[in-house]
Amino acid sequence: MPHTLFISDLHLSADQTDITAAFGRFISNHASHAEAVYILGDLFEYWAGDDDLDEPFHREIIAALRTIPQLFVMRGNRDVLLGTAFAEAAGVMLLDDPTLIDLYGTPTLLSHGDLLCTDDHAYQQFRAQVHRADFQQDFLTKPLVERKAWITQLRARSQQEKQSKTSAIMDVNDLAVDDLLRQHGYPRLIHGHTHRPDFHLHHVDDHRCERWVLADWHAQGSVLRCDKNGCRVVSC
Ligand code: MN
Repeated sequence: MPHTLFISDLHLSADQTDITAAFGRFISNHASHAEAVYILGDLFEYWAGDDDLDEPFHREIIAALRTIPQLFVMRGNRDVLLGTAFAEAAGVMLLDDPTLIDLYGTPTLLSHGDLLCTDDHAYQQFRAQVHRADFQQDFLTKPLVERKAWITQLRARSQQEKQSKTSAIMDVNDLAVDDLLRQHGYPRLIHGHTHRPDFHLHHVDDHRCERWVLADWHAQGSVLRCDKNGCRVVSC
């Protein structure tokens, strides 16, 4: 049956060989049978800029991405700097966050999900900063090694901060979800980011909206497969 696949939060990096292997299985066993594949953010553990395309691990991943005929990629918070050179090299279409699509007759809104974590004020401030065009332009003029060093520091700090934040603060805010669903005409929602794979039903203004939260790939590869009858999770 014609179907579409959604994945997110792979956090691919050269030192996580088990995740890279799962991604290889996804490419060979799943991706080629799908009408389209959507990667909803944090494909990479980090992305310092498109001038890092030739790094050997990136070349390997980009070659794999090129084998997927219809591939759409949304930037996550880890790879917010994925740009047009990456998109061209990998043969992908970059998507805005959020993006509304028609999925076999069901309006479906796609998002990375971090914009919905509105209880985490410090994070939202940081997010607004790194999404600013002038900040990105400025940052990308710095030498690649300097950018990588800054990102390494940032990752260590975010790891530390996560331990002191309550788990509720790092999840999506239900009212923010309801607002987003209302703004887009009560679609189905698919997002990642929180690493809390689940299925939720939201009742918004007499509408009933499905919300699918994608899994990260830390323990195993996880894929949401959708066709005209609905969605279900498959592992790889
Ligand atoms: Mn994320």
